[in-house]
Amino acid sequence: MTTPYRSPDAPPGLRPFVSSGKTPVLGVVGGVLAGTLAALVLSVVYAYGTIYIPIVQVEFLLTVIFGAAVGASTAGVMHQQKVRSRTIVIATAFVLGVFAWAFSWLPWLYGTFQRFEIPITVGEVFDPLFLGGAISRVYETGTWSVGSTGSSGSAVSGAMLGFVWLCEAATIIGFSTFVAVAQSKDKVFCEACGSWCTVMPDRAVYALDAGPALRAALVERAELSALESAPRPAAVDRWLSLKIGFCAGCGETNVIGLDEVKQTVDRKGNAQRSNKAYLPFHCLTRGEMTELRSKLRV
Ligand SMILES: [Zn+2]
Repeated sequence: MTTPYRSPDAPPGLRPFVSSGKTPVLGVVGGVLAGTLAALVLSVVYAYGTIYIPIVQVEFLLTVIFGAAVGASTAGVMHQQKVRSRTIVIATAFVLGVFAWAFSWLPWLYGTFQRFEIPITVGEVFDPLFLGGAISRVYETGTWSVGSTGSSGSAVSGAMLGFVWLCEAATIIGFSTFVAVAQSKDKVFCEACGSWCTVMPDRAVYALDAGPALRAALVERAELSALESAPRPAAVDRWLSLKIGFCAGCGETNVIGLDEVKQTVDRKGNAQRSNKAYLPFHCLTRGEMTELRSKLRV
């Protein structure tokens, strides 16, 4: 039977949770391999999709999926391999997003030349001089047009095409990075047993005004009873949301945190929520978490 115990020398408030940032080398290697494989395979699908499906919405969706898949496979394997450093996960996804975008030029040029029946070999697309020449040729003449059957006279080229290419690069690299940011958010690792903790968002909601008092009660005095007495939100567009994390294996690591939630309703009537960390994760003892979970019924 363990009882919640605090040493009299310890600060009276809750201790912030600090990630160890440990990064197993094999985890990084695995993430790079997974992201590279996704980039190689999907760049071919992406390139041929954009060449043969001349619908702008489909092309945009393909661009998003391509970038997101590279980021998701990189971050997914790195987490599976217990990489704790969020910075390294996000940076790797960014670099592989750049690689995926750059590499996708090769199948795209190959497919485009084939489509226009210009002789080309696979070996040629790997030749930097050929690549540079081919890209500047496409830049000057363009290969597709907007809203017509593709008569070369009205093909998008020059600065306008350059702008489209810039947006394409930003979308692929941006989504690869964004997915890694989202996937590595609110992850808590239990160093005692070497596994990821279970994190549960939205366990309770509070008025945003109650934030400063609630934060002080937790951080300065470790008064968990404040979670019961804090007022519920009166506003429907902004509130605080309680998230908890605990190790389902050994029970050594236990954390709580608060998010500030903002909800807006767009013109179509769909609710859009955005979360921002209000109080980062702070540690609880095993006993405190057991009691809190029984009160929250989770
Ligand atoms: Zn554990």
